[in-house]
Amino acid sequence: MSVLALASDTSSFGWTMLLIATVTGWVVNAVLICRLTRHGNTTLSAPIRSTSDRFDDGFLIMDLKEMEHLLAKAKESREAMRASHEELQQLIVEDALTGCRNRRALEQQVPNLWQQHLDRDDNLACLMFDIDHFKRVNDDHGHASGDEVLRRVGQTLRSTFAGVGQVYRYGGEEFCVMLPGHDLAEARWIAERVRLRVADIEVRSESSDCLIPVSVSIGASDRRQGALTFGEMIGQADDCLYLAKRHGRNRVVAYGA
Ligand code: GH3
Ligand code: MG
Ligand code: MG
Repeated sequence: MSVLALASDTSSFGWTMLLIATVTGWVVNAVLICRLTRHGNTTLSAPIRSTSDRFDDGFLIMDLKEMEHLLAKAKESREAMRASHEELQQLIVEDALTGCRNRRALEQQVPNLWQQHLDRDDNLACLMFDIDHFKRVNDDHGHASGDEVLRRVGQTLRSTFAGVGQVYRYGGEEFCVMLPGHDLAEARWIAERVRLRVADIEVRSESSDCLIPVSVSIGASDRRQGALTFGEMIGQADDCLYLAKRHGRNRVVAYGA
């Protein structure tokens, strides 16, 4: 939180005081920036001898060195706050387990992405991923192994789509990938490669020390398959995902194919 207060004394109207207070966690820094005379000269040159000297008309007065020190501190706090703010912004849109963007990010970003592609008449493809028989992974190998599988699938998707598309964790063991500028045929081709990569993931069971079989089913669609909204396009990809599950899992189904 930062507070900026600007006060001026109308009775002597020769000065202006700017008080900046920054509050970070438990740390409070209050800095008196300057107190100017009517002619613009500072009244802060006399050395400060005691605490009571530091108050004049109810205002804190400090020498220039101390002021510089406090200004430097205030700058440090401001920079630390900016870094914390950026970190917080990142955490708000990132899924902690998989490192992918989260559902909130999808809801914030995809409407704009859709609109941009609509305006430019560019294509935009969408892939929906669901880990196969994931409940069994938890049941047979423990929740920690399930988490590790999720982490590794997320990592595989992120590295595969880095610079090509955005990966979102859509729900528990479901991921949604947006591929700007790609059509359905390209999306299907990429999805097939990712499917094979995921099948190569090796996670050792915490309970039995064996390797856990990992596979994903994938549904694909793009903006030119008749969807009027991004939600409809995701729905088309989701319908295809459902078909992939029905036809045996560990496969890609593209819309209209
Ligand atoms: P299908 O092949 O049809 O998708 O079957 P499935 O078992 O993968 O699907 P189902 O919806 O029956 O089970 C999904 C499971 O995913 C249930 C839930 O406990 C688990 N899950 C969801 N989020 C997490 C998580 O963050 N960590 C772990 N370990 N499990 C999770
Ligand atoms: Mg599911
Ligand atoms: Mg599943």
